[in-house]
Amino acid sequence: MSKNNDTHKPNTFPPVVAVLGHVDHGKTTLLDAIRKSSIAEREKGGITQKIGASSVEILHEGTERWITFIDTPGHEAFTKMRSRGAQAADLSLLVVSAVDGIKPQTHESIEALRAAKTPFIVVLTKVDLPTKNVEKVRQELAKEQIQLEEYGGETPIIEVSAKTNLNIKELLDLILLMFDTQKKETYAQEINSTNPLEAVVIESKLDVRAGAKATAIIKNGTITVREDVQIDGQMFKVRTLFDSNGKPVQTATVGDAVEILGFTDVPQVGSLIKNKAAETFEILGDAKPLKREMQYLKEVVHKGISVILIADTQGSLEAIVNALPEGIKLVSQKSGEVNEADVLMAKSTGSILLSFNTKLKPDIVSLAYTEKVLLRNYEIIYELLDEVKDALEGKIQSQMEQIFGSAKVLAKFPFEKTFAYGIAVLDGRIARGDRIRVIREDEPVGETTMNSLRVGKNATSKVEKGHEAGIVFSGGLDIQVGDMILSHS
Ligand code: GDP
Repeated sequence: MSKNNDTHKPNTFPPVVAVLGHVDHGKTTLLDAIRKSSIAEREKGGITQKIGASSVEILHEGTERWITFIDTPGHEAFTKMRSRGAQAADLSLLVVSAVDGIKPQTHESIEALRAAKTPFIVVLTKVDLPTKNVEKVRQELAKEQIQLEEYGGETPIIEVSAKTNLNIKELLDLILLMFDTQKKETYAQEINSTNPLEAVVIESKLDVRAGAKATAIIKNGTITVREDVQIDGQMFKVRTLFDSNGKPVQTATVGDAVEILGFTDVPQVGSLIKNKAAETFEILGDAKPLKREMQYLKEVVHKGISVILIADTQGSLEAIVNALPEGIKLVSQKSGEVNEADVLMAKSTGSILLSFNTKLKPDIVSLAYTEKVLLRNYEIIYELLDEVKDALEGKIQSQMEQIFGSAKVLAKFPFEKTFAYGIAVLDGRIARGDRIRVIREDEPVGETTMNSLRVGKNATSKVEKGHEAGIVFSGGLDIQVGDMILSHS
């Protein structure tokens, strides 16, 4: 059976599996070992994987089944997708080295999996090594509050070696078993090749020859060559589809990973591709053309008020929680510092992020601005509570604006009678005509606009993420090296 064949029964769609864990714990080697165990790989020998996902075919309980692995390992990509409301994976593998145990990125991966509510299997790697200590790792997992199946919990654990192939086939069987048993009864109606298309972009880039292209996982429906589809409100015609072996295909359906050509713009990771006729995003406020940046705004306004609360101590946290007015949905609470995961969780849940007596790091403030998350720090409890009440009354929404991009000021030098600045664009884009907010430490220090924007010696109208530029601002705002600038509506 071909996996692009329409004879797919709903319950045999391939599960889509993400692989997370600390660097060097064996994610890449495990994926290689898995790919080598694929029937196609064994029969034809050496199919090289071309896109950021791979399809593996195995014999499971006498039936040929497929599993799609997302090869963009790492919790950052996972969290990024999640922050845009997209969930590409049905389940995940938490890779933990049996030698090294839980490390910082393992912990972050666990948090990312929890936030996304994705079921996962703990895969203990490198068990062929004499220095392994699987019991110690099990204890560390218990400390992370992971309830292992073998102790009556919900999370399976398997010991593997990608070097000796120990338990690789068993792992693949376990993935299918977990996927099949976890599916809801409504799965067949909700997920079907004839449903409206929903595909999640897992990686994208600009190819000099082919133009903008992206790898996407089909989560629902079917995508077909020459079909008109839309992404982030922009229409385009699917020019070419490649399967995970780089072979052109006419269609792809649920659980498949395909490379898609035909985009007008490089799409963002986590964006959804839908049928042309799918409901387009409502435009809030004035009738500007639909912009990517506006999608989030709509979600927030429609979801009501959810709050993520972070306080310096457990004591102040409890005091605030007890005083919160009714009608607030407390999505998450903790004591400590605000980190990137908190901002992304606020974005993915449409929450406002309130912190009490914590020091907000500049990169976190900047991330919140770019992700359009409302983030505030308070030093007086009743001020925080007042703000929450304002939010309940809808006053706070007007403060949300479109953030187009952020940049860091790297250099300052005299230019004519004022100063020119060297900047590096960290996110989005900076364009002439945008308003500019200058942020120092975690505080906004002023607003300005720009007089000129140059790349090298040439004037330009726009500079994108990853590029450096020279900029001259209007007005006499004192801007310093190290400041962040945000371009906004
Ligand atoms: P990643 O950073 O998580 O993708 O880790 P890699 O897959 O690159 O593996 C890191 C190192 O561990 C490499 O030198 C691998 O050869 C080694 N490694 C990975 N899996 C195993 C295993 O099962 N057994 C042994 N002995 N070494 C392994």
